[in-house]
Amino acid sequence: MNTRVSSLFDLSGKTALVTGASSGIGHHFSHTLAAAGAQVILTARRIEQLEQAVTEIQTNGGSASWLKLDVTNQASVEAAFSNAMTQYSRIDIVINNAGIASGGNALDVTEKHWDDVISTNLKGAWLVAQQAGRCMSADGKGGSLINIASILGIRVMGGVAPYAAAKAGLDHLTRALAYEWARFDIRVNAIAPGYVVTDINRDYLNSPQGDKARKRIPQKRFGRPEHLDGAMLLLASGASSYMTGSTIVVDGGHLQSSM
Ligand code: NDP
Repeated sequence: MNTRVSSLFDLSGKTALVTGASSGIGHHFSHTLAAAGAQVILTARRIEQLEQAVTEIQTNGGSASWLKLDVTNQASVEAAFSNAMTQYSRIDIVINNAGIASGGNALDVTEKHWDDVISTNLKGAWLVAQQAGRCMSADGKGGSLINIASILGIRVMGGVAPYAAAKAGLDHLTRALAYEWARFDIRVNAIAPGYVVTDINRDYLNSPQGDKARKRIPQKRFGRPEHLDGAMLLLASGASSYMTGSTIVVDGGHLQSSM
């Protein structure tokens, strides 16, 4: 393979901040980013998991550190970004990934449940995106913001109204920010995963109902976090330098069948 092609996804010298890095997709992406050469800042609320992940990355020869960050709290988001800028001088890549699940008939959704889902999955993503935009535009060098949306932001099923509304909002926020921040060379894109087995859904996917859901996926299998690596590395690296405002669906074909 020639060097131009083999270096397409190289992230050496880049700094990446990941929200929701204490488990699941964010935890996995932190390892992948480090393996691609980036210095990775892992953030979440559960710091024991972050400490452990940082140790694992360092043991594998990567560069990583952690910061506590609660996406629902503006002061916490600002403090984490400010700390990251002090430590690393710039942030090139932000994976806006933190999120919570939500289930239940729309008629039974309480105001608190609605507020919890929206304040994590939409307002929290906005607070992180805004800080990312401010940091990346400050020195005129830009960067790549990757929002982790969902196929439920594109097409719906029963029992997920607040989650689907938040993810649809995040998808549209992706386009709005891409439009506004192109002049700063900040690219804003999203990944919309289908079912990926993590703590957020493991119990459901292992249930008989989950098995029915699996059979509706054209590829007849659930995704694993590593199935998202290709899309993430594409969006994080210069390989996607002419992409902004895009949502990449990674779902085993699920959107093409019934939900
Ligand atoms: P996990 O439950 O494994 O991870 C969720 C992460 O979000 C955790 O690291 C958690 O960290 C973090 N988080 C939750 N609330 C907050 C908060 N208030 N502040 C900071 N961090 C928070 O689930 P996944 O890895 O599956 O989910 C990651 C993203 O992918 C979510 O946005 C989810 O909606 C999305 N997604 C997942 C799919 C799937 O099938 N798994 C499908 C489509 C989208 P901590 O609790 O330590 O703060």
